[in-house]
Amino acid sequence: MSEVCTICGGLGLKVIQRPDGTQFAQDCVCRIERRAARVLKNARIPRRYEFCSLDSYETMHSSATKSVKKSLIVSRKFTEGYPIETSGKGLLFVGSAGLGKTHLAIGILKNLILERGATGIFWEHKELLENLRSTYSGRHAGAEAEMLKTVITCDLLVLDDLGDITPSDWSWDTTSYILSSRYNEDRSTIITSNLPNKPPSIAFDESVDHFASEAAQEAQKAMNRRTLGDRIGDRIWSRLQEMCVVVEMQGEDFRQKVKRASFA
Ligand SMILES: [Zn+2]
Repeated sequence: MSEVCTICGGLGLKVIQRPDGTQFAQDCVCRIERRAARVLKNARIPRRYEFCSLDSYETMHSSATKSVKKSLIVSRKFTEGYPIETSGKGLLFVGSAGLGKTHLAIGILKNLILERGATGIFWEHKELLENLRSTYSGRHAGAEAEMLKTVITCDLLVLDDLGDITPSDWSWDTTSYILSSRYNEDRSTIITSNLPNKPPSIAFDESVDHFASEAAQEAQKAMNRRTLGDRIGDRIWSRLQEMCVVVEMQGEDFRQKVKRASFA
């Protein structure tokens, strides 16, 4: 049995008296906390990231490089300035795997839900598209619309591992639609990517030596796809630069370091 709130006696509201003697009702802190707990429960935060916060990031990465430390400062500034100073802008964390980009993104998401009463949701880019596609192509058109609506209208969307998908027109159109819809409504999106934040190579085809073997040409093409711009295309890449502050992170894979430390 849950305990009855000592402030409101379980009503969920408290009455505030104005200086002129009139009264008005306000949500009690117990109701605000219950609502935040519900939003957090529905935010789809993966179990392995459940205990991630900006504070725990600081402890874990205390000996980190300058750029990793700076990314924490930017994250804190974002949560402190939200939503007035951030005015719909989000953050794009880029850098190699193991620097804690997802940890930071989830730290921000949890902070805004618990401290600011925001709504928010976490999706791996690939998983989101797979889910949308399976509901879209099946008999669950209503479910697809509902899922898409939540992704577009929540206060904060975390889109993890952007670009790690099998490219198709449908994938890019859907991604572009989600990002543009959020941006147009001043809703922040936090994005992570393991790829370097560079525009697409303009001379994509010219860069291939047509006299080289097919295997060498393929290898060259694969090299060219190793930037975010090459992966997601010019249109979405340009939109991202407009709607996000880019946070570039460099350093050693934190998870590898921990492994070495514990099993050395
Ligand atoms: Zn209460």
